[in-house]
Amino acid sequence: MLVIATIIAIVIAFAVVDYKNKKAHELRAHKNWLRLPDSEDYMSNNRIQRGHRTGPICSHCGSHSIRQLGLSNRHETRRVHICNMCNSTLYRTYR
Ligand SMILES: [Zn+2]
Repeated sequence: MLVIATIIAIVIAFAVVDYKNKKAHELRAHKNWLRLPDSEDYMSNNRIQRGHRTGPICSHCGSHSIRQLGLSNRHETRRVHICNMCNSTLYRTYR
């Protein structure tokens, strides 16, 4: 009986540590997301306006091919915009 109680206590302890690690990771990711410039700040310096083509460009390589990802999953409302050519993280949006 004592062995079973010990095992249950160990499992609960691991679950608590895992939960705290996940929360710490989420908080770090959110703080890093907030450090990125928002889209208006970014586009005030990095925008292409050539002929019919307008939109943001990569500040590192000049590419206009930019993808957006959710911060933690694809349905996440906090979005991160990343250059398709050099993989630089460029700016954040919220939708
Ligand atoms: Zn780039």
